[in-house]
Amino acid sequence: MIRLTGAVLRVGLTGGIGSGKSSVASRLVQRGAVLIDSDRLAREVVAPGTDGLAEIVAAFSDRVLDADGALDRAALGALVFDDEAARRQLEAITHPRVRARAAELAAGAAPDAIVVNDVPLLVEVGLAPTYHLVVVVQTEVATRLERLTRSRGMSRAEAERRIAAQADDERRRAAADVVLTNDAELADLHGSVDALWHDRLVPYEVNLRQRRAVRPARVALAEADPTWPQQYARLAARIRHAVTPADLRLDHIGSTAVPGLAAKDVIDIQLGVPSLADADGPLAERLADAGFPRLPGEWWDSPRPAGSGRWEKRLHGSADPARPVNLHIRETGSPGWRYALMMRDHLRADPDQRAAYLVFKRELAAAAPDVATYTTAKDPWFDEEHHRAEEWAARTGWRP
Ligand code: ATP
Repeated sequence: MIRLTGAVLRVGLTGGIGSGKSSVASRLVQRGAVLIDSDRLAREVVAPGTDGLAEIVAAFSDRVLDADGALDRAALGALVFDDEAARRQLEAITHPRVRARAAELAAGAAPDAIVVNDVPLLVEVGLAPTYHLVVVVQTEVATRLERLTRSRGMSRAEAERRIAAQADDERRRAAADVVLTNDAELADLHGSVDALWHDRLVPYEVNLRQRRAVRPARVALAEADPTWPQQYARLAARIRHAVTPADLRLDHIGSTAVPGLAAKDVIDIQLGVPSLADADGPLAERLADAGFPRLPGEWWDSPRPAGSGRWEKRLHGSADPARPVNLHIRETGSPGWRYALMMRDHLRADPDQRAAYLVFKRELAAAAPDVATYTTAKDPWFDEEHHRAEEWAARTGWRP
């Protein structure tokens, strides 16, 4: 299998204790995934004879060892349970080792592997941006308590205490690209895992490997989705993690950045770079490896007013078949960069213009053109809107 990119598809899998993470992980393995179990790695990196264990003893003394010289988890747990500084010290020893080992295992996987990282504290540790996709298993707390007490022999109080020590469902949901609910039969869960595998993970992996971005062929307007900003935030965090320097400016632009506006379900993102030459080297490679491959051609915006020179950019898309993205790379401070921000802010500020734009878009979409025709047909409207937006910017003292 020929791999053009350096990255295998990395999926992060998490969920509260007793939610059914392990059940999802084993089903994914049956389908063909390579599983990296971070709980297991966490035990391996502090096994007897490891430098991880030696560092723990250096930090916490040999009180944390049992009679056989292995780590006494209960003793260590008691030391760090109520002591934030001690817990951080412990995590500073274990987390980098687990991450390094996980990266090593992923790098050793076949070029067309789909690597699933089972990480119970993925959200708590802030690892979401390091994966191509984050899958969260979500189950009612009452059901989790019932399953934990029945199948693990855990007391109800212990199960409650452990659930309370983790991130809550809402925080996990905010980090999730995919939520699998597991309140019903195991067969239902398996059904959703299989669909996720076939409909999303397999084509995502192929796209990532072949550096192919998904492009919707026809224009379909979707009703305004209140989760678009949150989806942008997840994508932006992933992009920020992939690029250097990490302080490059990212903005949510286009219609999905204007609350209440129906739009094509494509998230527009603008990445500002000091010079477009920066967009063509390692940056393009890093974005492709992170799941945002370059789109060939399409390197110019329509300048406003029409005919005023060329507005150059680079355009990347998304390899995730279920989340189309336009990632516009423009020079920070350039006319095209400024225009995208000004139009967004003007539409956010002016409900009448927003309504007029929506009427116009609906008429256009009803004619059901292909994406290219739809995009150029919007030009005259934008030429006019541009004048209004410039007036508004001058009047209000708007700055990008
Ligand atoms: P942990 O965080 O402790 O690793 P987990 O999220 O991996 O938990 P599982 O071990 O997959 O959770 O599930 C907890 C228990 O509930 C297991 O015994 C599992 O077999 C059972 N279980 C999972 N899903 C269902 C279901 N839909 N119906 C019935 N039992 C289930």
